[in-house]
Amino acid sequence: MTERGRWIVGVDLGGTNIVVGVIPVDGGEAHAVRSLPTEPQRGAKHVVDRMVHMIEHAIQQTIADFGGERGDFTGVGIGSPGPLNRETGTIINTPNLGWRNFPLRDLIQNAVNLRCSLDNDANCATYGEWWMGAGRDVDNLVGLTLGTGIGGGIVLGGRVFHGASDAAGEIGHMTIDSTGRKCKCGNYGCLEQYASGPAIALRAIEGIEAGVDTMLPDLVDGRLEEITAATVYEAAVLGDPYANEVMKETAKFLGAGVANLINVLNPEMIVIAGGVTRAGEHLFGPLRAEVRRRAFRSSEEACQIVPAQLQGTAGVIGAAGVFRTEVLGL
Ligand SMILES: [Zn+2]
Repeated sequence: MTERGRWIVGVDLGGTNIVVGVIPVDGGEAHAVRSLPTEPQRGAKHVVDRMVHMIEHAIQQTIADFGGERGDFTGVGIGSPGPLNRETGTIINTPNLGWRNFPLRDLIQNAVNLRCSLDNDANCATYGEWWMGAGRDVDNLVGLTLGTGIGGGIVLGGRVFHGASDAAGEIGHMTIDSTGRKCKCGNYGCLEQYASGPAIALRAIEGIEAGVDTMLPDLVDGRLEEITAATVYEAAVLGDPYANEVMKETAKFLGAGVANLINVLNPEMIVIAGGVTRAGEHLFGPLRAEVRRRAFRSSEEACQIVPAQLQGTAGVIGAAGVFRTEVLGL
């Protein structure tokens, strides 16, 4: 075994699922990838035990497949919902998991007897795309994950930009309408209230209730409460004019946020992840057009706006990548 080992274990802890995989120290595909439900309602000990079990399983699986020994594993990178403190390895609080001041890093570190790092899940997903995905060839990029909320991450010069208190990259809480919809963070008009999955569904339902003509109710047998963002993408791809209108509107909100990012950071790339990318050009076409209208031309021309490439493994690969840079200094 070399000093720095052959492998890093990546852990992507989410409110719904835990994903674990093993990544070569010098980069490459994730091996022994497995996903299990988090089941936070069963308590913190259950979640930690499950993470430990999954890490041990991934190590054993990799040794079985590639040979070697436990000493070839140099450490574990953990991505978790925040806010968190990287220095102490503590989760400050996570509404989804119900944790407060929870020393996650040390609990895992002591259980598996390997060095661990802890970073925000959206930072990890963005870093994964920079290291092994859509951003492989650029130095600076910003990542947005559109899901139940909007997660964000900023990579500058090949490093995650963390800010003064590990809270940088909260792109979903960028104000795009100062008197707009109330957000659960306490602010008004956050991007998340317009372009997250639930926000897209809500805007679509509001239009249907106001009487627009669309196939959307037929896709859910008239049960409007079952309309999700995925239903809207599906209808847009099927050519429904109203669903396309909703996607165009989403692109406008998202475009305002992306133009702000481009004007402030002048990145080479914006990577968009999440179910919304299934709408393809129904989203990306109007998004690029909106950014072109709003951002400085030289910044807009220098920036590619692209879908993420790593399907379901960006968080795991990125968590391992963060361990590699932050702990191994590579
Ligand atoms: Zn907010």
